[in-house]
Amino acid sequence: MRKVLIAEDNPVNRELLRELLEGRGCEVAEACDGEEALEMLERTRPDILLLDLGMPKLDGFGVMRKIRENAQLADLPVLAVTAFAMRGDREKALDAGFDGYLSKPINAISLAQELERLLGRPGARRAVPAQAADSLYDGKAGPEDPRSNA
Ligand code: MN
Repeated sequence: MRKVLIAEDNPVNRELLRELLEGRGCEVAEACDGEEALEMLERTRPDILLLDLGMPKLDGFGVMRKIRENAQLADLPVLAVTAFAMRGDREKALDAGFDGYLSKPINAISLAQELERLLGRPGARRAVPAQAADSLYDGKAGPEDPRSNA
């Protein structure tokens, strides 16, 4: 069974993610802030981390720095989860070493696609290199659409 750690300070979003993940047969653990996320990573050793960027104590970028400093966590796929749907946010997250990016409100289909891309079949840790994440977002209108750059 896939183990997923959700690090998110908003209880409503945590609950929504838990329901979606459990519906897909995942085992779910939760952390409410960045420090707890690091502690839970050590304790639960998840297959993937869903990491909210805006969190108390240590934000998602801070958690990501700690993860990438830890050789034991080098293979851990990490998905950024954020409501800041601002231009450049996706690039910032990918530059920081995130393997992908989910915007809130969470879309069940995008979540499923990212889980499949990053976890693939059981035993396969990374089905696609992180850089290929870009192709998933091509052609989507939104805050990053150049046409919206008024
Ligand atoms: Mn938050």
